[in-house]
Amino acid sequence: MFVSDNLNINENGHLTIGGIDAVELAQQYGTPLYVMDEQVVRSACSRFRDSIEKYYDGQGLVCYASKAFSCLEMCRIIQSEGIGLDAVSIGELYTAVKAGVDVKKIGFHGNNKTNEELCYAVDCGVGHIIVDNISELERLEKIAEEKGVKQHIMLRIKPGIDAHTHDFVKTGQIDSKFGFALETGEAFEAAKQAISCGNVELMGLHCHIGSQIFDIAPFEEAAKVMLNLIAQIKKELNYEIKGLNLGGGFGIKYLNEHDPAPFETYMERVSKVVKSTCAELGVEQPFIFIEPGRSIAAPAGTTLYTVGARKEIPDIRTYISVDGGMCDNPRYALYKSEYEAVIANKAAEERTEKVTIAGKCCESGDLIGENMPLQHAESGDILAVCATGAYNYSMSSNYNRICRPAVVFVNKGESRIAVKRETPDDIIRNDI
Ligand SMILES: *Cc1c(COP(=O)(O)O)cnc(C)c1O
Repeated sequence: MFVSDNLNINENGHLTIGGIDAVELAQQYGTPLYVMDEQVVRSACSRFRDSIEKYYDGQGLVCYASKAFSCLEMCRIIQSEGIGLDAVSIGELYTAVKAGVDVKKIGFHGNNKTNEELCYAVDCGVGHIIVDNISELERLEKIAEEKGVKQHIMLRIKPGIDAHTHDFVKTGQIDSKFGFALETGEAFEAAKQAISCGNVELMGLHCHIGSQIFDIAPFEEAAKVMLNLIAQIKKELNYEIKGLNLGGGFGIKYLNEHDPAPFETYMERVSKVVKSTCAELGVEQPFIFIEPGRSIAAPAGTTLYTVGARKEIPDIRTYISVDGGMCDNPRYALYKSEYEAVIANKAAEERTEKVTIAGKCCESGDLIGENMPLQHAESGDILAVCATGAYNYSMSSNYNRICRPAVVFVNKGESRIAVKRETPDDIIRNDI
C-alpha cells in the first residue's frame, strides 16, 4: 500500500507507523517529528547478516554506515544486532563509542581525516581505518608509531565503476575525491607503501561505488576488479590481502515504481562472483565487509509535519506549506529526491491532488517535493513523508535558526523519545 511496509491504515482512516497512530504521535510529541521504527532497522540488519551466513559461509561483517542516521539509540540497536559500524568523523565515532558499539567492529572513514581524528580513532582501538590518501597513510604511520601500536588499515580504491548508469562505464570514476585510482597504478603503489610501513597492517582493500543503486551488476564488476588488484599484489609483492570491503549503496524504495534488488539476491550473486574469481585468480577467499547505510535506516523513518498555509496559484500550482522543510530534509533541494507523501489523518482517502510541498525556510528551493500526489490538504492536517530514515536527520541544519525536530522510536506498539526536540536555548548554546 505504502512504500514502507511498516505503514498501514487503522479503523479511523489514520496512517499507522509500526502499528501506532501517526496522528497520535504528532499530538504526543509535536511536529515536525522523525519517527523511526526499530523493527524495520532490526529486520534489515538481520537480513544482511543472514545473507552473509547463507551465501558466504558467514565469512563477512556488516558495518552500518552511520552517516545515514546516527544517534546513541540507533548505535545501541546496531550493537545489539551484533553488526559493525562505519564512522566518518570524530562526532560519529564518539557517538558510537559512547553508545557502547564494539570498537573492534568499527571502521573509520573519511577523505580528509585530521590528525586529531586519527589519534582519537587509534586511541579508541577501532578495528580498521580506511586510508584514503598518501598524506593520511604517512600521518597515521607516525601516529601509530608514537603510540606504539600496529593499526589495521584498508585502502580506499576507486575501482573505476560508474554505478549510476545502467550500462556501467568502467572509467568514469577517476574524477572523484575519494581514494586511490586503479587505472593509473596509484592504488598499487599505495599498497606497496602501506605494506612497507611498520606500524600499520594492510588487512583489506575497500571500494564504495555509489548510492541508491538498483542493479547488482556494478557490484559484481567492482568485486572482480578489486580481486584482480588483490591478485596483482599477491603476485608482484608476495603479500596476501585478507579483507575485501565492498562498501554500501544498496537502493531502497522511495516511490512505488522503484524496484531495488533484494539484498539476498545481491549477496547470492556477489558471493558467487567472489568465489569464482578467487578460484580463477588463485587467491584466498577474502573476509568481506559490506557497508549499508540507507538500506538499513531509510525505510525505518517517517517524518510528520503539520500543514499550515495552502496557496493555490491558478494554472500554475498549489503550494502546501509545512512546519519543517529543507532544514530537516534537504534531499529535494540537494538532489531532487522524490518521496511518497500522505495526509496521516486522511490516509484512507484517495490522493486527488498534485501539489508542491514547501517548507518554512527563506529559500524558494525549500521544497519537500513537487507534483506530489496527495489527499486534499488543509491547514492543521498532519502530513507524513515516507522513507526518510536516512540522510534526513543526519543532514539536518539549523538554517534560519530553526530548531531540529525530535526523533522518536516506535517498537511493537510503544514509542519512546531518542533525541529531544531542540529549543531556542540549544540554538544559542555555543554563542558567546
Ligand atoms: C555513504 C557510504 C556508505 C553507505 O552508503 P549507502 O548508500 O547509504 O548504503 C558506505 N560506505 C562508504 C564509504 C560511504 O561513503
